[in-house]
Amino acid sequence: MLISGIQKFTMLDFPEHTSAIVFTPGCNMRCGYCHNKEFVLPEELKKISKSFISEDAVFNFLKERKGLLDGLVISGGEPTIQKDLKNFIIKVREIGFKIKLDTNGANFDVLKDLIDSNLLDYVAMDVKTSFSAYNELVGNYIDIENIKSSIEFLKKNYVEYEFRTTFLKEIHTENIIEEMKEILNGGKRYFLQSFRPANVLDSKFVKFSPFTKEELQNLRGEFSKSIQSVNVR
Ligand code: SF4
Repeated sequence: MLISGIQKFTMLDFPEHTSAIVFTPGCNMRCGYCHNKEFVLPEELKKISKSFISEDAVFNFLKERKGLLDGLVISGGEPTIQKDLKNFIIKVREIGFKIKLDTNGANFDVLKDLIDSNLLDYVAMDVKTSFSAYNELVGNYIDIENIKSSIEFLKKNYVEYEFRTTFLKEIHTENIIEEMKEILNGGKRYFLQSFRPANVLDSKFVKFSPFTKEELQNLRGEFSKSIQSVNVR
């Protein structure tokens, strides 16, 4: 599997686990507010392709850290576009690590297969906006039915999961938020994230506005009516 970067330690990204993060290159979306453009845009990836990390280097690192870390987060870009993601996860689990997958949910079949195969311990899925506004926000065409299927499948609780959204005032209007409440209704865990208008994939998003912490806390109250656990990150 292609690995474009590694963060060797985090206590924040995998709930109740000390973990490392590997980042995979490329993504099937183009969210203008994305902060990981160096792992998304092909022209940016070319610049760093020589520093990609081999699977073996990651496996050796994990073997050395056994007992100190217990989880590996696989993030991106979008990990589910990697053809050999499943084999990579199998090998990491054989070393004894738990797996958290960060995904945009656009490859439902891949996500379902990994969950059905008991290869994931935690999934964090971005739910970016209402279904009607999705394609405009994520830039590339994605099949919205896949997003819907991923959300509904995660809600069945076969694996621990969270939904998460980065909120921007120009995108997440009252109407959009109302639609999102319906989409997320019955969810288990949801995080509301603040947008940072810097280092974004599409420079026009630098002018977009984040919600204040107080506004996010108000939204938290709204979403809490129909989701078990809602927090601001
Ligand atoms: S799905 Fe994630 S990684 Fe891909 S463009 Fe959007 S924010 Fe960036």
